[in-house]
This record gives sequence, C-alpha cells and structure tokens, in this order.
Amino acid sequence: MKPTLVLVGRPNVGKSTLFNRLTRSRDALVADIPGLTRDRHYGHGKLGLKPYFVVDTGGFEPVIKSGILHAMAQQTLQAVDEADVVLFVVDGRQGLASQDKIIADQLRKTGQRIILVVNKAEGMHASPMMAEFHELGLGAPHSVSALHGEHLGELVDFALEDYAYAAADEAESARLKHPAIAIVGRPNVGKSTLINTLLGEERLITFDQPGTTRDSIYVDFEYDQRPYTLIDTAGLRRATKVWETIEKFSAIKTLQAIEAANVAILVLDAHSGISEQDARIAGFILEAGRALVVVINKWDGLDDYRRDQIKLEFGRKLAFLNFANLHYVSALHGTGMKVIMPSVDTAYAAAMARIPTPKLTRAMLAAVAKQPPPRGGMSRPKLRYAHQGGENPPLIIIHGSMLEHVPKTYQRYLENTFREVFQLQGTPLRVEFRVGH
Ligand code: GDP
Ligand code: GDP
Repeated sequence: MKPTLVLVGRPNVGKSTLFNRLTRSRDALVADIPGLTRDRHYGHGKLGLKPYFVVDTGGFEPVIKSGILHAMAQQTLQAVDEADVVLFVVDGRQGLASQDKIIADQLRKTGQRIILVVNKAEGMHASPMMAEFHELGLGAPHSVSALHGEHLGELVDFALEDYAYAAADEAESARLKHPAIAIVGRPNVGKSTLINTLLGEERLITFDQPGTTRDSIYVDFEYDQRPYTLIDTAGLRRATKVWETIEKFSAIKTLQAIEAANVAILVLDAHSGISEQDARIAGFILEAGRALVVVINKWDGLDDYRRDQIKLEFGRKLAFLNFANLHYVSALHGTGMKVIMPSVDTAYAAAMARIPTPKLTRAMLAAVAKQPPPRGGMSRPKLRYAHQGGENPPLIIIHGSMLEHVPKTYQRYLENTFREVFQLQGTPLRVEFRVGH
C-alpha cells in the first residue's frame, strides 16, 4: 500500500502550499474533467521514487479553541491516527508559537512517527532558528521552503525511507489478472448490504474470522465461477458487527482501497441524493484512473415520479462519470443486482484493453476525415498516427505536428470516438498529443 503523509500545523504555516508542492503528478486528469475540482485535502504525489498519499488537515480546523482538549479537530486526530508519517509544519519566520507546543504535546501522545518541518526557511540562517524548535522534543527539525520548493525531495525521501517499493509479489500480480474491486461510498449508503447480497451471507462472515482474512485487506471470491478479489475498507468490516452502529468514514482507507483496486464500485443512496462527500469519493476514483461502476442503491420504496426526479438529478450531477455504467438497485431486496458483476467485467476489460497501433491509427484517421481539427491561427494541426502508451487506464498518444493547437473540445471528440470504436465503457481514458515524428 502507498504510505500516507499527513500534514498538521496551525493556520498559515504553509500546509496548503506544501500540499500543492507534494501533489502535482496527477493533476492533469482531474483538471481536464469539467464539473470536478481537485480535492484540496487529499492527493496523490510522487516527488522522488516513491509514490504516496498526502492529507492536508488544514481545512479540518478549528485548531485551538479552548485549551488542550480542543487543540485538534476530531477529523485531524483521525487522520493522524491513520497516517504512516505525520509532517508537523511550523513557521520558521515566526518562530515557535504557543500553539505549536500544544499541538506537539498532542502529537507526541499518539505514538506516531512525527517529523518536524520548519517551513518558510528560504534564505534563513539555520542554527539559531533550529535550536528553538528542538525544544518541542520531536527530534531534529527539517527546514524547507514550500513556496520556493527547497529541500522538499529530501524531506519526502527521509519520511519514506522505511517504505520499500518492491515489485508486486506473485500473489499481487495474480490478483491484477482479474478484477480487484473496491466498493466505496459514504456511510449508510448500503455497501455492506450490497456485498452480502452479491456474495451471500457466509462470505461476509469470513471477514471476521480470526486468523483467516481478518488482517488481510484482500478477500478472494468467485462469482459465476470467475475469480475476483474484494478489497476491504475498514468500514465494511466494522459495519458487520451489530454493536458498531456508527461507522467512522475514513477518507484515507477509501483512497487506499481505490488505489489497490482495478475496478471501483461507487455506491450512492437514491433516498438521500448526491452530497459533496459522494463527489469527493468520485474524484478519488477519477484521480486514481480506476475503472468504475456506479450503483444507485435503495431504489425500493420510491414512486415513479420520485424515480424520474432522482434520475434527472443523478444524470446532471454525475455527468462527469458518464463513461461508467450506472445501475439502479435495491441491495436489501436483491433487485437489479444481476447486472453489476457483468459491468465490473466490462469495465475491467476496457481498463486493461491493448489496442494495436494500426487499429488506433485507422480509427483516428477516420475521425479526422469526418471532422478535421480546427485551424490554430495560420496552421492546421496534422494528426499522423496513434499508439497506446499505457493501460489501466488506457492512454492513447497521438503523434503529428502543430498538435499544441488542438483544442480541448477536439481532444474530447477523439476520446469519445476511441471509446465508442473500441468499446471502452467503464474506464477513464486519456488522449495526449506528442509533437514530432
Ligand atoms: P496553511 O494555512 O498552513 O495552509 O498556510 P498556506 O499554505 O495558506 O500559507 C500561508 C502563507 O504563507 C501564504 O501567504 C503562503 O504564500 C506563505 N508561505 C507558504 N510557504 C512559504 C514559504 O516556504 N516561504 C514563505 N516566505 N512563505 C510561505
Ligand atoms: P454501509 O454503511 O454503506 O455499509 O451501509 P449498510 O449496508 O450498513 O446499510 C445502511 C442502512 O441502509 C441499513 O439500515 C440497511 O438495511 C439499509 N439499506 C441497505 N440497502 C438498502 C436498500 O436497497 N433499500 C433500503 N430501503 N435500505 C437499504
């Protein structure tokens, strides 16, 4: 699993600036999708060799309302709890503040690995400043400048030095040869019920048998005699216990499950409409480039008028997910469920598709013949050939000249064409342009 770095600190020390620096790699995919803004709190990053997740707890304030008890918001504490490494950010220009001491005290109690990051340290003489921060008792401070991008690579390398990235082991590689599914959604939309109905009661019970799958996040199962793996998010396991009525939603666990999966099933609740949290989870899936099946659950107990209304609302708000199959089901009554796994198969096949260069090129040239790209000033872009640059999700690279003049709308036209011709239903798809040969 990718390690998670969690940024903590009082307001204005530079956490969001640091967050932006640490999470650049996957912006493009999300930025290209109309109607979806990048999540400012959760992101993927890769500054050095090792990829990671970053959480900025900045928006989870209030940090400090009245005294030590309220030093950190509940959400921040949960994120710290789930972190692999905590980056505690302080302001080198302002020096040590009393709030820093309170936060440090609380962090120390968690027993987590804490790295003290002295930000805004550009052009500053290190030693006198550092002495002051030593007082916090969190080990040697690391001075960086988030604004100027100084010493960030070193910081990340240091934070992640214990995390080796061995190539996927055999079991993991085998898993990637069939659909590995993350069932995600906010609490109470019906994820556990859905799993129960899909797999049958006895399957879920194995979740809680000590020593078997308990510590494993992977649950292998068969459906229609084909192998699948279910990736557990902690919430699912907990929700099966009668005494646990309140499920704590964990954005970090959700991110990790999506990352480990190759198909996500996003579960939404027809009764409660689409919330910001739903959109955020959808954003995670898109950012990770995962194949997707959308399930709108609790389709029971609604009259036709209400159903039409809901369909309209979901269609409008989920327009950016229109590459995915969307199913209306009742997990509780088991209706509409049969189509889910075939959709998983379709989405998986689409995500893993390998399309030969001649076929791609032919499809591209046909699309260009039908509708040529618009002129950009004096020049008309010339699209020569297309090849596949990656899978899961498919990346199609187009070669030619003057391609920098191809507008976004035309790029989307090509995407839609490829999706249709090669039946890439259920997976995000990227089209990129390369100038030259
Ligand atoms: P947050 O509230 O902790 O998320 O802090 P922000 O990231 O919003 O930053 C607060 C202010 O500090 C902004 O004006 C930033 O431009 C500034 N800032 C952030 N990092 C640095 C840095 O490395 N050096 C300097 N000089 N200013 C910085
Ligand atoms: P989770 O938190 O996403 O795992 O949700 P659960 O599976 O625990 O379900 C939350 C609540 O919604 C429970 O009371 C379920 O009985 C109920 N529920 C789940 N699926 C359906 C459905 O299809 N229809 C209705 N009416 N209720 C459902």
